[in-house]
Amino acid sequence: PPDVEALGRSSWTLLHSITATYPTAPSPELQKETKSFLSTFSKLYPCWVCAEDFQKYIASENAPKVNSRDEFGKWMCEAHNAVNVKLGKERFDCNRWEERWRTGWKD
Ligand code: FAD
Repeated sequence: PPDVEALGRSSWTLLHSITATYPTAPSPELQKETKSFLSTFSKLYPCWVCAEDFQKYIASENAPKVNSRDEFGKWMCEAHNAVNVKLGKERFDCNRWEERWRTGWKD
């Protein structure tokens, strides 16, 4: 089975990078495809406990928000924070997601 930590780090890199290059004004079709991608991703993610919890997260009141890059980036950051909290890791300041994943740190 894959190394859950290495898989997680590379998967978060992929997911946050997708939000960083997401359009500021996505078409309705792209929004639909993005929700569909996340739903499929959550079923195929190759760590079954992780996948199960991520599916529950998406199906709960935390349904993906994909109306704009900012909204999607913040949603992904909150989804990552939910996993951080579950694992006893520090929460990330979601006002800084774009600095970390798109524009680069200012300091
Ligand atoms: P990671 O959490 O992998 O973070 C990588 C980098 O992202 C950090 O160094 C930081 O710069 C940045 N970052 C941190 N938090 C945020 C945030 N909120 N928003 C934006 N950037 C941030 N592991 C389990 O053991 N059990 C699980 O149930 C589980 N579920 C997962 C579900 C998903 C969908 C994914 C993608 C991963 C899951 N993981 C799970 C893996 C886990 O989240 C970590 O990736 C892994 O533990 C390695 O952690 P890390 O401390 O190296 O940093």
